[in-house]
Amino acid sequence: MSNTKHSVVIVGYGGMGSYHGHLITENGRVEVKGTYDVLEERREASKQAGYPAYDSFEAVLNDSSVEVVLIATPNDVHKDLAIQALQAGKHVICEKPVTMSVSDFQDMVAAADEAGKVLMVHQNRRWDEDFLTVKQMYNERTIGDLFQIESRVHGANGIPGDWRHIKQYGGGMLLDWGVHLLDQMVEMIDSKITSVRSRLSFILGDEVDDGFEAVLQFENGVTALVEVGTTNYITLPRWYVKGTEGAAVIEDWSLTGRTVTRNNEVGKIEPKPIRAGVGLTKTMAPPSEEATITGVLPEPFQRSSSFYDNFADVLEGKADPIVKNGEVLRVLNLIEAIFKADETNEVVKDFDIYEPAGK
Ligand code: NAD
Repeated sequence: MSNTKHSVVIVGYGGMGSYHGHLITENGRVEVKGTYDVLEERREASKQAGYPAYDSFEAVLNDSSVEVVLIATPNDVHKDLAIQALQAGKHVICEKPVTMSVSDFQDMVAAADEAGKVLMVHQNRRWDEDFLTVKQMYNERTIGDLFQIESRVHGANGIPGDWRHIKQYGGGMLLDWGVHLLDQMVEMIDSKITSVRSRLSFILGDEVDDGFEAVLQFENGVTALVEVGTTNYITLPRWYVKGTEGAAVIEDWSLTGRTVTRNNEVGKIEPKPIRAGVGLTKTMAPPSEEATITGVLPEPFQRSSSFYDNFADVLEGKADPIVKNGEVLRVLNLIEAIFKADETNEVVKDFDIYEPAGK
């Protein structure tokens, strides 16, 4: 491993930019050389945190000792900043959503290809342990073949009080949390999406969505529900999944949850009827204790390296990116289909740009 760290300048030193500062400081392969923000107060905050602040974006681009530009500004300026940085010979890490449309991202990828530089998108929630636990169940068939996967994040604090309220800046929850949850789903399920239906919510009266629900049908038979809400005073579990042998629930980020599977040791046990409301039911009676096994969630799937280590490996020609630009493009295309399905109130088909793995 090389001893020289890759030097990064963080452009946009707000909430996420400063978080990158902490994360990069903990990493041995990349280092923060400085930051740039359009706001004087954020440049001041950077200096106080110990990171020199550049006076202009041009000064960052003109500094030949800067190898990587990390873009953590609002979404509408990602494209322009990234293309300028690539043309100035810098590698680029860009925050999600990388940009707001498929065609904008194609321009960014073309600029990276032309410059011969790396462009990698910070889809960091691929490393979330709750997701990696579901990915493990999916890959290892812990509860049989998963055929229904429901992924939800529910908050009750509305849209954060910043540019995320404004369409022009790339606001709204589909582009915010949606891009994470869709990215996870598309990375996990290696199959073409045959149709999508969706409903965006505008409960808070903003010009952008404050949440949404999308149902994706995959060619391999998996149905995935992705839901984001910001007005949910009672929250549903982070994940609910069904497999051919049972079901699993993950309640929260700290992996509270369980699996319940069919007990194949015992023959079919007829459930006893229960009173349900004013009626009687056998169909909806809970299975008898002997008929099922309650288990713990499996250990999460292990990634070969962290985001920054993988990025450093890619720069050094030692690995392929974990977050591939083809996957990012596919998710942006899916987001466009979700907007269309909501606008037209129709099921959208024949849109997916899926490439089978290994192709
Ligand atoms: P923020 O408003 O807290 O910070 C954005 C900063 O960018 C501000 O300080 C602003 O002054 C600065 N800025 C705006 N235009 C600029 C320009 N042209 N040049 C330089 N600086 C500029 O926003 P945030 O919450 O930090 O979000 C920033 C980005 O990070 C967004 O793309 C968002 O989606 C992403 N994000 C990602 C995650 C994640 O988990 N991956 C989490 C939060 C935010």
